[in-house]
Amino acid sequence: MKLRKLFVAALLLMAGLVQVSAQDMTLPQDKNVRVGKLDNGLTYYIRHNNYPEKVANYYIAQKVGSVQEEESQRGLAHLLEHMAFNGTDHFKDNLLQEYLQSIGVEYGRNLNAYTSTDQTVYFFTDVPSTRQTAVDSCMMILKDWSNGISLTEEAINAERDIVHNEYRMRIIGLQKILETLLPKLYPGSLYGERFPIGLMSVIDGCSPETLRAYYRKWYRPDNQAIIVVGDIDVDYIEGKIKSLFSDIKVPADAAKVEIVPVPDNDEGIYLVGKDKEQQMSIILAAMKHDAFPDEMKQSMQYLVFDYMRNVFGDMMSARFAEEAQKPDCPFMQAGANDEQFLVSRSKDALTLQVVPREGKDVEGLAAAMRELKRVHDFGFTATEYERARSEYLSQIEKAYNNREKTPSNSFCQEYVQNFINAEPIVSIEDQHQLMQQIAPMIPVEAVNELAKQLISLTDSNFVCLAAVTEKEGKQYYQPEDMKRAIDAVRQEKLEAYVDNVKQEPLMAEAPKAGTIKKEETNAALGFTKLTLSNGATVLMKKTDFNADEIVFSATADGGNSVLPNPESGDVQLASIVLSQSALGSFMTTDLQKALAGKQCGTQFSLSNDSHGLTGTTTPKDLETFMQLIHLDFTKVAKDEKAVSNIINLVATQLKNISQNNEAVFEDSVMSTTYGNNPVYRVPTAEQVEAISYDRVLDNWKKLFGNAANFTFTFVGNYDEAQLRQFICQYIASLPSKGKKDLKAGDLRTFVKGNVTNNFKKKMENPQAQAQEMWRSNEVPFTLENDVLTDVATRILDMMYNREIREKLSAAYHAGAEGSLDVEAGKAFVTISGVGKLNPEKAAQAVPEFQKGMKATIAAPNQEDLNKAKQILLKQADVDAKTNGYWRRIMNRYNRYGLDFHTDYKKVVESMNAQKISQFLQNVLLKSGHHVEVTMMPE
Ligand SMILES: [Zn+2]
Repeated sequence: MKLRKLFVAALLLMAGLVQVSAQDMTLPQDKNVRVGKLDNGLTYYIRHNNYPEKVANYYIAQKVGSVQEEESQRGLAHLLEHMAFNGTDHFKDNLLQEYLQSIGVEYGRNLNAYTSTDQTVYFFTDVPSTRQTAVDSCMMILKDWSNGISLTEEAINAERDIVHNEYRMRIIGLQKILETLLPKLYPGSLYGERFPIGLMSVIDGCSPETLRAYYRKWYRPDNQAIIVVGDIDVDYIEGKIKSLFSDIKVPADAAKVEIVPVPDNDEGIYLVGKDKEQQMSIILAAMKHDAFPDEMKQSMQYLVFDYMRNVFGDMMSARFAEEAQKPDCPFMQAGANDEQFLVSRSKDALTLQVVPREGKDVEGLAAAMRELKRVHDFGFTATEYERARSEYLSQIEKAYNNREKTPSNSFCQEYVQNFINAEPIVSIEDQHQLMQQIAPMIPVEAVNELAKQLISLTDSNFVCLAAVTEKEGKQYYQPEDMKRAIDAVRQEKLEAYVDNVKQEPLMAEAPKAGTIKKEETNAALGFTKLTLSNGATVLMKKTDFNADEIVFSATADGGNSVLPNPESGDVQLASIVLSQSALGSFMTTDLQKALAGKQCGTQFSLSNDSHGLTGTTTPKDLETFMQLIHLDFTKVAKDEKAVSNIINLVATQLKNISQNNEAVFEDSVMSTTYGNNPVYRVPTAEQVEAISYDRVLDNWKKLFGNAANFTFTFVGNYDEAQLRQFICQYIASLPSKGKKDLKAGDLRTFVKGNVTNNFKKKMENPQAQAQEMWRSNEVPFTLENDVLTDVATRILDMMYNREIREKLSAAYHAGAEGSLDVEAGKAFVTISGVGKLNPEKAAQAVPEFQKGMKATIAAPNQEDLNKAKQILLKQADVDAKTNGYWRRIMNRYNRYGLDFHTDYKKVVESMNAQKISQFLQNVLLKSGHHVEVTMMPE
């Protein structure tokens, strides 16, 4: 499709809009970011931002990726990305990573990189910014990445296996199918030959010089952007960029980054890809069209276009969701969005995604296509559009209200998008103002006109890919079957969609309000505790972290352990079934329509020893949110259609779970640890299909029938008087039988002593997995033990990464996991070494877990200990400014009488080698409980 046509609707609108917005046709660029360009072409973005405080984020983005590779370099854009962490001019070997960790930057979470077809981006985030030497070092790292990666032969050779291990881990199922079929999805385009993971023959065998050639050719200032956002001095950073980067020269004959075209296809492309590790069918149908030209993205048209495709996607989702609930609908889920066509930035496509019902692939695709055609023929209704528009505006409103607390990282990502894809940088203030003016002016007819153009009813530029589960003896449909079905839908005569909307209010009448009986304050943690007339407890803490956020939870003791057959699907999937149920006479679909434009929602949660609700809302929508809570406790009712759809989806996923190596391994670890206890196994498809809705609702009555057992927690920027009034109205009014705790039982059945489970499994992509777990059940639940567990785990994690990934190159990921948990009042601690290993190196790698544990007990690595402490201390400051953190702290205090906040940093500071060593020896190892599970390919 040609773009000009696509713009007609938007342009027509603009004509009427100019006077209203009294704005230039060019979008205003955010003034709070300093954007500049050096003479050598290096672009930079610098912004001071205070959220989170005292830290900053550093990015380097390059406009190059795997499409710039030569045939002999396939995969080297990605290998190069790995090499950036293995020696640079100023940070030899692993020093870069070690240095960042030493100032509190967590590897993986705060330090990472990614490579795609058109971009390669590196970043480290939440770096302490108060010390100038640290800021200077961070700038030096960016400089090294831009042109000082060492690329020694030794380091390259050590990294080959790590990338190969990553290939084993990642390229399975849909990824494998895409890798195989990419040339057919992109006939005549280089994109078809440049899947970023590349060729393993190149990774294993390329000469170092081939890699260096790619680096020299493409990593140049004119292809790079430096982005620094955080609690920093903008002038200082700009000076640094100038002094560090200005001297880098770009050769006069430097190769240009060319746009890689994606040719049109006159004939439809229909493909069926099979893979044994693809758990369920997923079908994509893309209707290609030209991408919005970069040079026009700074215009008001683009803002309008982007808004229209946004609400289009939103309305399609709602239609598909409603359709999927019909008992004979052959798809379980579908969505359609106008976005980049798979991996190519030069082409966009309206992309339909369908998850069909089992055995109904072709019918599912056709049914989803039919809904698109219905929109093509008749458009959306005014009421659908009204909801989508108010939802859109409500989200902008929320972002606007929370603008003082926009995280630094979202600015960074915005600037990466500006640099790579020319996306505009409009401040949230301007966006809010513009959209409030523009959105109400855009009629549903304009969106319908756009939809008509996006939804193509011919085979030209049509690309359809089915990814299906490969099974022995299974009969497959052919690409022609999909083509025939699509052709038939295109000819159908359809009827317009009818939007049924319930006009009544959520609650017919307000419940009889109760009162607040008692009030206490907790000075240390700064919250108020109320006891209500019905016996319910309320904890509330007012904060100003986010102007437009209130987080909530309701919890009570009990959970799965007080229900009959806790291993059954009725119990294991109860939270999903309840969250998909009706409230009063409002079915799930009615509820979604009624809540459009409101930021509120609740989720049921059940664990082994507790149950409750969680949710988030805004001050404006607080009353609706309180009504939802009231209804969740009093009016849950059957929505057979919604629940049968979700059960179907879960069961289909579970049917082929034996093909999923990851899931099989996890399940083996759990069944070995808990002696085959069914509560801790992955439920089977049969169990899920046997769910009885009546039993789920009986259980709900038992768990949620007595408000006196619950603690309701509110943290955020509420109006005190208003919240109190709502609490009396909607929570103190909940039915109650007086406080009668459902005493949680203990479902745990830990195996004792030393247990080993080494097994073999048939695999498509041979990959070994190992978990070495130490456990103690004799450990008090205290702040000190919690911190000890965390620090010890981090020390082991760094050691395993160093020994198994870096030294042996035996894994893409090797590390440690650990936690101190409490269930039914009894605490237990587990620490595990975990690794996804190259099978050929597994025998060498697995003993490293034990070795590392012994070495750490003998003498914990002091540097790693310091790094772990720095990471926790820094994170503590960041966390303490979030509402979710306080919800956790208050609930823990209320439930266990333990203050995990006040002394936290003091306890972290007090960590030393002796304490770690004693904890691991006397608490963890002394118990004698140890589980080893390994899975090897057959
Ligand atoms: Zn990688």
